[in-house]
Amino acid sequence: MSKAIQVAIDGPASSGKSTIAKKIAKKLAYVYLDTGAMYRAVTLLALENNIAAEDVEKLKVLAEASEITFEPTKDGQRVLVNGLDQSAEIRTDRISKQVSKYAAVSEVRQVLVEKQRAYTQNGQGVVMDGRDIGTVVLPDAEVKIFLTASAEERGRRRFLENQEKGYSDMNLVDLIEDIKRRDLYDTTREDSPLVPADNAVMLDSSGLTIEEVEDKILAEIQQAIA
Ligand code: C5P
Repeated sequence: MSKAIQVAIDGPASSGKSTIAKKIAKKLAYVYLDTGAMYRAVTLLALENNIAAEDVEKLKVLAEASEITFEPTKDGQRVLVNGLDQSAEIRTDRISKQVSKYAAVSEVRQVLVEKQRAYTQNGQGVVMDGRDIGTVVLPDAEVKIFLTASAEERGRRRFLENQEKGYSDMNLVDLIEDIKRRDLYDTTREDSPLVPADNAVMLDSSGLTIEEVEDKILAEIQQAIA
């Protein structure tokens, strides 16, 4: 695979986007950007500074001043927020419950979308995952995937992951409720709602292994490059 392209992977909470996007980026030696981590980072900073989602001017300044960087680790990447490793903190229930409210603020989105687009400079191959990558951030991406799975399946996956990593105290039923609540918020917000791009390939990962989903996306990429 020679030509470097842009790959956009969107979908609802816990649909497996990050896991798959990370693997694909590694395989192709592309840059990987977890845009959800950026919204989580701004939410963390807002909570630490007691800034409400309604206080849009302060949020804009906060988002602009935030330094969100990613550092590769042995098994993934760590997220540094203003120089501090907040990889675990941004995945806690406290942040998951608040993030959609802050992510719905247009001023925050404008700032973060600009930071996200900066990753595409130099014509480097990039894989980004989020909610609005194919529709807003990278509308010209050569490959756009919309990854879904039932809320129950996504809840089960998130539950197992949380147990493994210790991010959450929520039981399975509450986790599924939280996922459904976040889906509703993300799909019905005014600015950049979660919707598939017109030319996105729809992929339901229910019942598929990570490898099977990865293979399907790699086939799309191969086709785009050819
Ligand atoms: O992907 P993740 O579940 O970590 O994203 C957390 C939240 O950030 C989402 O529920 C959504 O509200 C917001 N988000 C967004 N746009 C993106 C990525 C994430 O609004 N591109």
